Amino acid sequence: MPASSDTAAQLRTSGTARARRTVLISGAGVAGPALAHWLHRYGFTVTVVERAPQLRAGGYKVDIRGAAIDVVERMGLLEDIRRLSTDMRTGAYVDGDGKRIATLPAEIFGGRTGRDDEVMRGDLARLLYARTRSDVEYVFGDSITSMTSTPITAPAGDDRGDGTSGVEVAFERGAPRRFDLVVGADGLHSTVRRLAFGPEERYLRHLGAYISAFSVPNALGLDREELYHALPGKLTCVYRSAGDPTAKGMLAFRSPRLAYDHRDTGHQRALLKRAFAGDGWQIPRLLEAAPEVDDFYFDGMQLIEMDHWSRGRVVLLGDAAHCASPASGQGTGMALVGAYVLAGELAAADGDPTAAFARYEAEMRGYVAANHALAEKFAREMTVTSRWQIRLRMLMLRMLPYMPWKDAVAKKIAEEVQRAAQAITLKDYPAPAAHGATARPAAASGPRPGPRAYAA
Ligand SMILES: Cc1cc2nc3c(=O)[nH]c(=O)nc-3n(C[C@H](O)[C@H](O)[C@H](O)COP(=O)(O)OP(=O)(O)OC[C@H]3O[C@@H](n4cnc5c(N)ncnc54)[C@H](O)[C@@H]3O)c2cc1C
Repeated sequence: MPASSDTAAQLRTSGTARARRTVLISGAGVAGPALAHWLHRYGFTVTVVERAPQLRAGGYKVDIRGAAIDVVERMGLLEDIRRLSTDMRTGAYVDGDGKRIATLPAEIFGGRTGRDDEVMRGDLARLLYARTRSDVEYVFGDSITSMTSTPITAPAGDDRGDGTSGVEVAFERGAPRRFDLVVGADGLHSTVRRLAFGPEERYLRHLGAYISAFSVPNALGLDREELYHALPGKLTCVYRSAGDPTAKGMLAFRSPRLAYDHRDTGHQRALLKRAFAGDGWQIPRLLEAAPEVDDFYFDGMQLIEMDHWSRGRVVLLGDAAHCASPASGQGTGMALVGAYVLAGELAAADGDPTAAFARYEAEMRGYVAANHALAEKFAREMTVTSRWQIRLRMLMLRMLPYMPWKDAVAKKIAEEVQRAAQAITLKDYPAPAAHGATARPAAASGPRPGPRAYAA
């Protein structure tokens, strides 16, 4: 019998007599652990499965701007972010001999203003993992292989708490398990997306460039400085952030889509060597270092564009849903904001996925669109193809510090990024009852249809 509204209200507040909703998150990058943080606080029981045998702490420095910095503050992590800040001082363009052509404050390079900050992706991943590891079950070295879901039939969800509704999940290594909801936070090449929505090809738009990032010895003796070297169709950077014993290298190059296995790093290194063969400055040294490092990252600058991010009990988050490519500089911020919104909407809807997923999308769509537009523009500009365009850019950068209106120019550069970074107004969701059980909806009545399988 359906619960009366009084009983339902009691259920929402008591939190003791009912089972907690279970959520499986695929991917322990940034989006996954950030969502785990919030869901645990709202009383969900969370499992995170990560394909890698341990936390992947590689990657370049990532910006936390606009709405994302507000989310970090609401997570209680602002102080940690300040402590982990890259604290970059300057950025400079150099010529082929390493001579600095134009030097600017790091904030201008990063389009950061006010409270915005920048951290190493790996530091952020470690921070989020450390924050959640004792409250959340992490399973490393495994991956989902199939999901079979019972449809949701009632407006408030159909879970009866009798163990028969939900998503039956099979894994590469572990035994099958059942969860109320599954979240794909498994990045650009998401397995959950493939299983629930079909092949990656349907949703991926290549922005015409590839990017690689990895650690290198700090041979240039850099201290919180980033050096860029532009060549037609290519951009290289070496920098060292505060407290990092090594420097980081970044190589980006223009290219149509390349055929390679995104897990075959040997092939990716070969592609990088081919693209930069014969180039000067620090490039030979970076190419030499690439095979030795274990934090090697290589991927296309690609957008994931989808009409819907959820299907039944399965929902996508972060890059899996709406990758904006490294060109946007916003992927990490979007992952943090998306996690806040998705968890908040689930809590606000008492765990009803139909209502929560629809509101999550409605809240996020405009923000994602603004950042996708930013990515398209920056991907083009990052690797300009002609020498005269590069010369013109260097000339303008060289003159900028002497221009009386330099502050206005800097503001204009930052404004575009800021508009996208702030293109969402964060709602205030129900205050998390620390470690309490989440509200469960009233039981649905009527027959429950059979399971739906997501073909692998
Ligand atoms: C090692 C690494 C380095 C990166 N470096 C940069 C960088 O230098 N610059 C940049 O702009 N962006 C980088 N990114 C991407 C950036 O982290 C994301 O754009 C952004 O932070 C959004 O985070 P996300 O959690 O959605 O995705 P990601 O941070 O990509 O995390 C996805 C996680 O899912 C895991 N995963 C993948 N497939 C499965 C599966 N089948 N089952 C379980 N787990 C799975 C991955 O191992 C990863 O840990 C990097 C990502 C990774 C994984």
